[in-house]
Amino acid sequence: MKISKNLRLALFILPVFFQQPVNSQPATGAWWMTEPISLIQTNLRETDSGLDGAQLVREVKAFPANTILFSVGGITAHYPTDVPFHFRSDYLPKGKDLVREVLDEAHRSEIRIIGRFDFSRARKAVYDAHPEWFYAQKDGSPVVDDNDLYSVCINGGYYNEKALEILAEALGRYDLDGLFFNWFGNITSDYKGNYIGLCHCGVCESGFRARFGRSIPDKSDKDYDAFMFDSKMAVAKKIRDLIREKRPKALFMTYIDDYTDGIVTEADFYKWRALPQWIYTASEHVNRGLNSHPDKMPFSLVMPYQEMRYRFATISGDGIRALLYQNMAQGAFPTFVNLGGMEQPDRTAMDAARPVFRFYQAHQADYLGQRSAARVILYARQDLSWREGAPAYRGFYRLLTELHVPFKVTNRVTEIDPKDIDMVVIPEGPTPPELDAYIQKGGAVLIAGTTHPGLELSPPAKLWEGVKSAYFRIQDHTAFPSLQSADVVFLEGDYLETGPIPTPVTLIPPGQFGPPDKVAVLNEVTDKPGLILKDLGKGHVAWIPWDIGGLYYLYSNNKHRLFVSDLIRNLVPEDHLQLTTNAHSSVEITVMRHPDPDRVNLHLVNLSGHAGTGFSEAIEMRDISIRIRGEFSKAVSLVDGQSYPVTVSDGYSAFSIPELEEYIVVVLTIGL
Ligand SMILES: [Zn+2]
Repeated sequence: MKISKNLRLALFILPVFFQQPVNSQPATGAWWMTEPISLIQTNLRETDSGLDGAQLVREVKAFPANTILFSVGGITAHYPTDVPFHFRSDYLPKGKDLVREVLDEAHRSEIRIIGRFDFSRARKAVYDAHPEWFYAQKDGSPVVDDNDLYSVCINGGYYNEKALEILAEALGRYDLDGLFFNWFGNITSDYKGNYIGLCHCGVCESGFRARFGRSIPDKSDKDYDAFMFDSKMAVAKKIRDLIREKRPKALFMTYIDDYTDGIVTEADFYKWRALPQWIYTASEHVNRGLNSHPDKMPFSLVMPYQEMRYRFATISGDGIRALLYQNMAQGAFPTFVNLGGMEQPDRTAMDAARPVFRFYQAHQADYLGQRSAARVILYARQDLSWREGAPAYRGFYRLLTELHVPFKVTNRVTEIDPKDIDMVVIPEGPTPPELDAYIQKGGAVLIAGTTHPGLELSPPAKLWEGVKSAYFRIQDHTAFPSLQSADVVFLEGDYLETGPIPTPVTLIPPGQFGPPDKVAVLNEVTDKPGLILKDLGKGHVAWIPWDIGGLYYLYSNNKHRLFVSDLIRNLVPEDHLQLTTNAHSSVEITVMRHPDPDRVNLHLVNLSGHAGTGFSEAIEMRDISIRIRGEFSKAVSLVDGQSYPVTVSDGYSAFSIPELEEYIVVVLTIGL
């Protein structure tokens, strides 16, 4: 590979890499960290209260799954609650305790039960008695949905007292293995996605005023976000403390990171989310969850629904399996969500999921305790929304996946060492200052975006905002061998110009794009850098001062992909990359460490069935070559038991996978 003079030194002093030691398992003996999980969530309607609990458990066990996320209380109690303002389902037959039935049969059958509660809404009778517990719009009126349910405020007495009373009753009666809270915090939209505004109830108003000296704003801002974050945390802490007191072995999980034992996310392909369709939804949740919070378990709940609105019409089974395999390939487990029991009018998704659950059950010891062995970090800010992500971050997530660079997503970059981590990617600013020590020791960092990273890089000169019809000229193709056929790559959006420095890439400012007679001739030559390369200490920084990740997320331009690909190979030379392969870009590959220190699991998820806005059958792939860091004596497919001949040299192992259908996991072992 040809490399620029600027980078030749960089390659020379890249450190020798060592086999990374195996991460120890979390100290806790908590069941969700130490046992295999395969989970079915049955979201019950009120009308389901009469169902045969024992039969449901038998059906789940036969599926096979070993954990049920089961509706207990909140909006509707599926047990004979005695707490005032907590209402038994109108459909709960007299004398029946559905929760008891399910729990007893489940525990006899070694099935875990996570109780589901939803305290986000309550009946009119509760509102009439305690309007001060409820969400208030700016004019003081409540938020009422089509079912005459009133939205509850996280800061009011319902969440802070009544909910705890209800929980204390449930925890006193039932030996639940965990508790899950739906719709946690003051979510500002209703189920239909309509914006309901911020809560202006008396408690919110006085609390916000006491802290910030002003009224609740009309739209959320930084102060309000901080206020609401703390409000959620205060309630989460109360719930966590109560669970610890009453059922110390039970799991607490909801959609937040703090105070919880499990982080809940929903994996789906809903089209009402902004395009482009995000097909790595499960993968991203689990990767980020496990690597940002190694002491917690991500519960990436796979939603089969065609949109939320069609609870009984599912997406294709191929799409469901793609999400289930992503969960497993990143270190979690299969999950499946149903409305009601196991009888469904559209059985295609469940039929598609069943073989994956069977496979997992047969090989659960192989999946248990997996942790990423990736040597590249994709940095994710802590405040990224799990539903929406951020375009720059998602762009790099997809770039690294398509380029088959194994990576872990985390915000934990303190005390990382070049011995373990080949490269850190910062998809957008700010760059965490603690990376400086890593770079000084020989680390490589790839940064994108217009936030100046510090790091003694060329100072900012001018922020170009909302640029259109601009380009960057590749001045020196030796740094970009994959771009021999292109002298320009396009730029849209913001660009941060810095002082002039030697660079292989320079700006061509915006020009005319039409009519064709008047289109710019591209002959303007500037010294404005489109890429800043710098050696710092023993390490190396490449900064792309524009939003290449966001552009790739939106446009998938292959020159942007090759631009990043060549930069990665400059920062981490080809023969030092943890993994090289000829696999198609639609194949997602993860490298996972197993608790057995002599083995690594290599997962390949074939996402080639994705087209347009949906999934069909994955296209079968053949003869996928793999070169992976580590000296392994054996490579065996768990899917069909086939053993692949391995050749080892210079600390790397090479083998070929003759056939990939939709998913394969190859167990690589050292020694016998
Ligand atoms: Zn409020």
